[in-house]
Amino acid sequence: MKWEYLREEDFEGAIERSGGLCVMTLGCLEKHGQHLPVGTDSIKGDRIVELAAEKADVVMFPTTMWLGDVGPADAYKNPSKTRKHGFIAISCQTMLTVLEELCDQIARNGFTKILICASHGGNTSLLGLFSRFQSSKDYAVMSCKAYDFTNQLDPKNVLEAAKKDPEYFSMLTEEDLKTLERFAQTGTGGGHADFKETALVYGTHPDLVAPDRFEAESGSSANRLNFPPQYGISTLLTWFANFPNDFSGYPSIGCTPTIGEAYLKLSVDRLAEIFTYLKNNDDCVDVIRELKQKRQ
Ligand SMILES: [Zn+2]
Repeated sequence: MKWEYLREEDFEGAIERSGGLCVMTLGCLEKHGQHLPVGTDSIKGDRIVELAAEKADVVMFPTTMWLGDVGPADAYKNPSKTRKHGFIAISCQTMLTVLEELCDQIARNGFTKILICASHGGNTSLLGLFSRFQSSKDYAVMSCKAYDFTNQLDPKNVLEAAKKDPEYFSMLTEEDLKTLERFAQTGTGGGHADFKETALVYGTHPDLVAPDRFEAESGSSANRLNFPPQYGISTLLTWFANFPNDFSGYPSIGCTPTIGEAYLKLSVDRLAEIFTYLKNNDDCVDVIRELKQKRQ
């Protein structure tokens, strides 16, 4: 159920069917190499969340496509010189304020559980920070990833799953299986505009992938800034320094719309399972209300 398609009188019934759960996507607008559009994270995330929300029969809040943590805006002052057109970088304070007011409004309408699905890696820490400061509300804010790049969508695991259940993956051609085999051996070489991300855009918006641009820029690390891994030093500067083309990974050669279909199916089924679990589970609401009572 899409929030914006409901009539006013539909809401009470929709909230009940949804088990009080409202879901939304948080993507971003930023460059994804030269083969994918700048809205990659928002548009693919939105479509996956939309299909999963339909499947689990829960309400989906309208997209906030431009709201997402893409780092410092002043780094992109001269887009034509830096090949950084299309980024929208809202300040952290504003993003936190907008998120809080949105969630308050969703809750004011009667929802008790809000799940924000991060479809951009940079939003994970933003959402962690945001949800830490929402514990005094009388509704629960939660977040999860809109798709699982690290495990489920790893070509090695997709290939293994396809061998176990060929019927589920009947869209894959012999050629697709060979491509998956190749990426299973080498890995995808990254996580931004790489094979997995290209596959998901093929799955959600096949017309927006430009296969003739797969090799237009390098997605290899420039190794400009690397700390000894044993020190666990963390800074976003390493990403900016090492991947100046906003692409990390091997070229997506061999990626096809049918591989995209498989990636989309896996992602929608995973997310629908998460939505169904949360729609039938009120533990988070009980806990947040208990905490509030103890404070009073
Ligand atoms: Zn992305």
